[in-house]
Amino acid sequence: MAVVSTAKTASVLWKFRKPITFLVVGFIGMIFLILAALFTIFQENQAPTSQAKLSEEVLQWKPLVEKYAKQYEVSGYVNMILALIQQESGGRHLDVMQASESLRLSPGTITDPERSIQVGVKEFSEVLQRANGKIKLALQSYNFGPGFIDYAMERGGYSPKVAQSFSDMMEKKLGWDSYGDPQYVQHVLRYWQTPKGVAGIPNEKGFIPPINSEISSHFGGRVDTITGDTGEFHEGTDFTCNGQTLPVFATRSGVVSRAGWQDPNNPNAGFGQRIYIKHGDGLVTIYAHLSKLFVQPGEKVNAGQPIGRCGTTGRSTGRHLHFQVQVKGRTMNPETVAF
Ligand SMILES: [Zn+2]
Repeated sequence: MAVVSTAKTASVLWKFRKPITFLVVGFIGMIFLILAALFTIFQENQAPTSQAKLSEEVLQWKPLVEKYAKQYEVSGYVNMILALIQQESGGRHLDVMQASESLRLSPGTITDPERSIQVGVKEFSEVLQRANGKIKLALQSYNFGPGFIDYAMERGGYSPKVAQSFSDMMEKKLGWDSYGDPQYVQHVLRYWQTPKGVAGIPNEKGFIPPINSEISSHFGGRVDTITGDTGEFHEGTDFTCNGQTLPVFATRSGVVSRAGWQDPNNPNAGFGQRIYIKHGDGLVTIYAHLSKLFVQPGEKVNAGQPIGRCGTTGRSTGRHLHFQVQVKGRTMNPETVAF
């Protein structure tokens, strides 16, 4: 028997020696590899659609979160705070933001959801400020306590590794079984829904978000932030920069038609440093108040390509991105056209 089987193996091996068999096997192998690669890319692109959703129980707290976000000057972070609530309690406990500990009380001492949201939002605002607007550092500190901020700053800022080492250190120091959730940032961010889609991925309207942050001011009538006049019409959508010079991305592929100062003699005029991109069919997108530009007029850009950095150049009271959309020369609401 053994002899027969050896002979069979030998004959199979012999077949593979024929060049045509090599070619066929190699070809099938290559097709397989290409399919595997395509499947991986497909899966990566699909990943954001499986992003975790905020539950109804969490969304019921949105008006209260908005109220206290305004009071503690973190209005640009309402969706982030809702994501935090989803992670903390799923919106189902009375202490919805698990805020008792930030008052040095035992967990669950607060039994009024509004009180929990007030204390929790205040704590979030404070850690965000102490973290210089660095959102991941602030989030992890919400879980670990503000002591994490200095620890992380001394080690080059937040990283999952630094979070883990802090957790290990505290665990040993306190003799506990575990300390906090070292993956808190990832756990919260999976629930974070920006109003304009998922960073780097075109939405159903074919637009990629121009910045990875939240909307701070909508298109339409509002009070002028500089003069205080009412009745001014806001011609674009503003995004918070989280106090940072966040990168700004081309929302679609196109050609840069203008890039630079609106008025080279006056850095406080209008859009300041801005970029116009023509996308064809009369569609133009505008990115204003930038601190840095990475592109020049005439340059072709791809959707999602970094074109500049968030700033406060031109007529602006603080770091933000003013994003504007024109269709055939008419200014349109970006939230209708693009998001
Ligand atoms: Zn604006």
